[in-house]
Amino acid sequence: MKVAVIGGGTMGSGIAQVAATSGCQVKLFDLNNEALIKSKISLEKVLDRLIEKQKIDAAEKNRIQNNISYVNTLNDLSDSDLVIEAIVENLEVKRKVFSELETLVSENTILASNTSSLSITSIAASCQKPERVIGIHFFNPAPLMQLVEVVPAIQTSEEVLNKTVQTISDWKKVVAVAKDTPGFIVNRVARPFYSESLRILEEGFADMATIDWSLKEMGGFKMGPFELMDFIGHDVNYVVTETVFTAFYFDPRYKPSLTQKRLVEAGYLGRKSGRGFYDYN
Ligand code: NAD
Repeated sequence: MKVAVIGGGTMGSGIAQVAATSGCQVKLFDLNNEALIKSKISLEKVLDRLIEKQKIDAAEKNRIQNNISYVNTLNDLSDSDLVIEAIVENLEVKRKVFSELETLVSENTILASNTSSLSITSIAASCQKPERVIGIHFFNPAPLMQLVEVVPAIQTSEEVLNKTVQTISDWKKVVAVAKDTPGFIVNRVARPFYSESLRILEEGFADMATIDWSLKEMGGFKMGPFELMDFIGHDVNYVVTETVFTAFYFDPRYKPSLTQKRLVEAGYLGRKSGRGFYDYN
């Protein structure tokens, strides 16, 4: 199967690794060449770590690496069977990419978005053939997280939904089919995890290390909310909250936090920029 991934950042790189590991021929495209170089270097490191842990051998590493090519234009993706978009979380930018993409690929190519919270129906409406558009929402880090939400738009055909569920299952992921509502299932349920933690911090009732520690020790979470927001990236996480808040007609349950907004404005995006709630330098 020929798979294209658009956006070679955190998610696109992980999704490319998942597809390549399952034997697909993957083309990874990013507007920014540096992102592609970074993605290639990071894959090398990830695979070396898997060799150290004796989870794969050198031949498997080569096979996965050889299954991915790094390309600089959308045109290079024209022979794909499935395209997964993982670019910036902005509806207008995604709609533009999808409408352009549709003119390049074959009629039968499935066009998927990895959006965390935007309307798949609205992205599909930017295409002439909206029935082939669908949401495939991986979690971070994509190679490790088992769950993938598959989200049909209201225009998506049954055939495209079935093929997508089959493909993602073939990639050894567990599929949850979710309705096209803001944040789908997991990102909607996760909003209060972040927002109540931010409120406790803002109200001065506990510091972030204590909140993180409590949720890990007592709540059984793998990461505390502040560690997780730093891991996801505040630019990504804040926009998701803003989208869910706006899409639910400004329901105060989903109100975004000014503390997080200021981090985004400062460029303190979390681990990827070296500083977020915590300092990683
Ligand atoms: P990121 O910032 O790490 O990567 C985005 C990449 O897209 C960048 O390399 C950028 O250069 C590239 N890009 C931007 N516009 C482009 C365009 N028009 N064409 C080609 N490349 C373009 O972002 P990310 O964290 O990987 O998130 C990507 C998508 O996945 C978003 O929709 C986000 O909501 C979703 N998502 C993120 C997470 C997460 O934890 N970070 C989890 C699940 C889903």
